Amino acid sequence: MFSIAYSIDMYLFNKCKCPECNMQALSTITAQGEISNQGSWCLKHSPHPDYVRAQLWNYIKTHDKIVGLNACGLTIKNADISGKRFYGCNLQHMIISNTHCSNMRARMCMLDFSTISDSDFINSNIQYTSLSGSRLVHALFTGSDLIHNNFNGITSYQSSFDDSDLYNSRFIRAVLLSTSMNNCNLKKTVFYESVREGMAFKLSNTRESLTDRSKGGLTGEFNLFATDISGSGTADSGSSSNSSAASGSSAATEASI
Ligand SMILES: [Zn+2]
Repeated sequence: MFSIAYSIDMYLFNKCKCPECNMQALSTITAQGEISNQGSWCLKHSPHPDYVRAQLWNYIKTHDKIVGLNACGLTIKNADISGKRFYGCNLQHMIISNTHCSNMRARMCMLDFSTISDSDFINSNIQYTSLSGSRLVHALFTGSDLIHNNFNGITSYQSSFDDSDLYNSRFIRAVLLSTSMNNCNLKKTVFYESVREGMAFKLSNTRESLTDRSKGGLTGEFNLFATDISGSGTADSGSSSNSSAASGSSAATEASI
């Protein structure tokens, strides 16, 4: 159950003050050290981007519980933010590199279109959070609770979700390469139209996931050059044909037993 007092500034989605800009305004930190989301600039149009970056990073560094922060586009490198708790934060388009994020807690956060590399989120608890379109390279989510999350359209390379609960999370149209999901709970985890190559699902309940079963099920390799074995495609159809075949026919998808 949620028992946190949410800030009234959460999800305001204030736009950048630059008239032609559609980006969201970043949070500013008041003289009292509190988050303000009242009228600001995006990182690109901010007159003092380095100052804004330093302010946002300093806020994250000095707070364990972070509510309603908009740090869209911030870069965090070579850092340790283990144990931080994020609630309703906009962390889209972030770059997180070579950073320890273990024991992180996140609720209703947006990390869409972020790049996460050489970082660990071991033993984290991330729920109702979106990472859609993000790129994960050498990202470790081992031993985490990752339920009700949106991983749609991610590209994951040599990353690990081992020993994690992925209940009701979505990997629709994800590209999952040499990524392991051993000993995971995959009940209602959705993999429709995903590309999978070199995956490991040992001891995971793959049959309870939702996937394109006519194409070999979850454990069947469905790589970038896989042919459509349902018979509606041609041998050299490539990935675009696979996608259209899967989306064009409801018979191509089958719920878990
Ligand atoms: Zn702007």
